[in-house]
Amino acid sequence: MTLDAKPGCREVFAALSAFVDGALPDSDCRRLEEHMQGCKPCLAYIESLKTTIRACGAYQVRGIPPPPPAVREALRRRLASIYAGGTKRRKR
Ligand SMILES: [Zn+2]
Repeated sequence: MTLDAKPGCREVFAALSAFVDGALPDSDCRRLEEHMQGCKPCLAYIESLKTTIRACGAYQVRGIPPPPPAVREALRRRLASIYAGGTKRRKR
């Protein structure tokens, strides 16, 4: 996507995620930065975007702890019985 020489807030908002990802061409980055220097709503928006990205990053780094061995074993047995039951169903 390319921005007009004087993009409005809408265009800036639409381009911001590409901007944060570093996927925006240099000329668009400059237009974006020029616009944002004097635009409080856009500055507030990009700040919240950065905070969200940081929060997501922190969450991914910690990750989810692996389940305890007993849970993994129960899960493995359950899955094995499901797969085994795929061809012949257990009668009740
Ligand atoms: Zn703006």
